[in-house]
Amino acid sequence: MVLILMGAPGAGKGSQSRELARRFGLTQISTGDILRGHMADGTEIGVRITDMMNAGELVPDDLIVGIVRERVREGDCRDGFILDGFPRTLAQAKALPGILAETGNVLDTVISIEVPDAVILYRMNGRLVCPACGAMFHVHYYPPRKAGVCDSCGSALTLREDDKAHTVLSRLATYHERTQPIIDYYGGEGLLLRVDGVGDKAAITAEIVSGLEAGVKWPK
Ligand code: AMP
Repeated sequence: MVLILMGAPGAGKGSQSRELARRFGLTQISTGDILRGHMADGTEIGVRITDMMNAGELVPDDLIVGIVRERVREGDCRDGFILDGFPRTLAQAKALPGILAETGNVLDTVISIEVPDAVILYRMNGRLVCPACGAMFHVHYYPPRKAGVCDSCGSALTLREDDKAHTVLSRLATYHERTQPIIDYYGGEGLLLRVDGVGDKAAITAEIVSGLEAGVKWPK
């Protein structure tokens, strides 16, 4: 089973894909996490993408397609995976069938988590990340037990560079311009499950799961 989780930055792709991966026994592949890993490790790729990532711009299609192609060949993807943050452009969406064919996997459903821009802006203003272990918090929605300190490892929490207000606006604009067209494309293919992403996290998971189990996919 292969799922794609789509949604604007801050729509909840990360937390929903982790939960779905756990429930369905799939491997979660977050391209954002892979790229941040390269930056943290100072690899050649990390150095090349740092300015683009910090500005909230998309990294080049050929680079990200190569990264995903390699990742899905690993053993933990044999029985299926969830793509969180890929594809984000039409060129990436068009490269995906070739990548899947190499692994013998088939795309099952594209889940679009839909959240209005105003809600995204409110959510992103207050998102905190632990630079040491990657745990995420939010000053309003899921605050750490002690202000500014990671519950998991005790490190000082920071704001992700690309979560700063002006960068969030440009990430949203990029999402509407480059990524939204793919959602329409998958709608036309009959692979799309649209879910309202405003509200309780567990209720949103339940809506996705029941949609998947019922095989409900709405054309756009
Ligand atoms: P995310 O954690 O999914 O919000 O991604 C963080 C950043 O990583 C994005 O703003 C882009 O700079 C980069 N990125 C992640 N996935 C992709 C992708 N599929 N194509 C291009 N850039 C990506």
